Amino acid sequence: MLSIFDIFKTGIGPSSSHTVGPMWAGHRFLKELEEKGILSRISSIRVGLYGSLALTGVGHGTDKATLLGLAGYRPDTIDPDEADQIFAHIKTNKVLELAGKHAIAFDYDSHLIFHNGETLPEHPNGMRIFASDNNGVVIYYKSYLSVGGGFVVSTDEYNQPEAANRTEDSGQIPYPFRTAAELLDLCHEHNLTIAQLTIDNEVARHQGDVDLVNDKIDAIWTVMHACIDRGLRMEGTLPVSGLKRRAANMHKNLTSNPEAMLMDHFAIMDWVTLFAMAVNEENACGGRVVTAPTNGAAGVIPATLAYYTRFISRNNQQGIRDFIATAAAIGSLIKMNASISGAEAGCQAEVGSACSMAAAALAAVQGATMEQVENAAEIGMEHHLGMTCDPIAGLVQIPCIERNGMAAIKAITASRLAMRGDGDHAVSLDSCIETMYRTGLDLQAKYRETSLGGLAVYARAQPIKIVRMVS
Ligand code: SF4
Repeated sequence: MLSIFDIFKTGIGPSSSHTVGPMWAGHRFLKELEEKGILSRISSIRVGLYGSLALTGVGHGTDKATLLGLAGYRPDTIDPDEADQIFAHIKTNKVLELAGKHAIAFDYDSHLIFHNGETLPEHPNGMRIFASDNNGVVIYYKSYLSVGGGFVVSTDEYNQPEAANRTEDSGQIPYPFRTAAELLDLCHEHNLTIAQLTIDNEVARHQGDVDLVNDKIDAIWTVMHACIDRGLRMEGTLPVSGLKRRAANMHKNLTSNPEAMLMDHFAIMDWVTLFAMAVNEENACGGRVVTAPTNGAAGVIPATLAYYTRFISRNNQQGIRDFIATAAAIGSLIKMNASISGAEAGCQAEVGSACSMAAAALAAVQGATMEQVENAAEIGMEHHLGMTCDPIAGLVQIPCIERNGMAAIKAITASRLAMRGDGDHAVSLDSCIETMYRTGLDLQAKYRETSLGGLAVYARAQPIKIVRMVS
């Protein structure tokens, strides 16, 4: 069972599996050295990145994130504006301060290796960290897997079936479930909505402290909202690619002539797309985002929730909480039974999952029945099946930024479609999730966040055309 706060985690861009996860891995390695009391004996650290972390690691900032983690920084508290400076300091001065207190020599070019073409047997996002003493003897090492959404497990934990789905709090919960069918049965049996059941589980995890749970959920929306707000204001270009940020200009366009907007029946769609793009531009720039359920897909849920708060008149604080709780319940089902990792199952697992979560949540806060909510989640996922992950140049920019806007629109459509029906439908959410996972496993590796196929290859062949198209 996963917590709401496992699914929604504050981090920094651009990638949950390639940035947030590796930073946690570095941080965790550091903690293990401290717990073993050997930190002060370490005179050398070597890091190896494998699979997708190697192939697209530079574009995703995997190298920077890992070293920041080893320096003692955490994704949820680091100041995104300082991250680049700290990384530059490590590279230029060739010194890594473990936990900010034990300085060792660190040569970026020889101590951090991108093992392109090599993959750890367990998972496409693998890394190994070795710590040596001053005799050059390796006295501690660990292999970690970044399994999507910022979750990190050691290879030992991965080989234990439940390890990859550990919760941040293992307290007893009143309503455990593994499938959507079980979730709906529990809701009916106890006369609870999905949101109520999820929040009850969370309150139990937090020793009955309802206020704490509400505060933590509210904080998720606060970070999401701030991210939209900043994304709407920031101009300039995206890192590495130099592509123009578009959200600020689009925002000016939409607000410059409000009367014209009244005559445009589809203006709301532009707003929703804009909210998502604002978040994903912030993510691409390494800004503060909430993994929802990943960074690449971080715009879909905030955009759909912003649609609820700004365009649905009967919105309120409890509705925001119910939205987040419902989305988390659907996200847990996908994470427990399939994958939310683009490297493991393609973009259907990231943006498709976010759309499914948002569709269910939006239906729920508008009074949908349980069956309609489940149907909305299924529709949101079904129409992303087969979607590949092929980020150009390994950057979470094209197709990711626009794709989030498209998925937010789809989430609204999915919720509306579900609410036009009576909840009765042919394909269950459980079988759709299973189909997504099996389809993901069938995808060739070049379509799973390796930038070796699809748009990524096309852009390399025709760079000018692509740059003109998006600038
Ligand atoms: S294409 Fe989709 S899965 Fe791949 S990096 Fe972009 S958002 Fe993530």
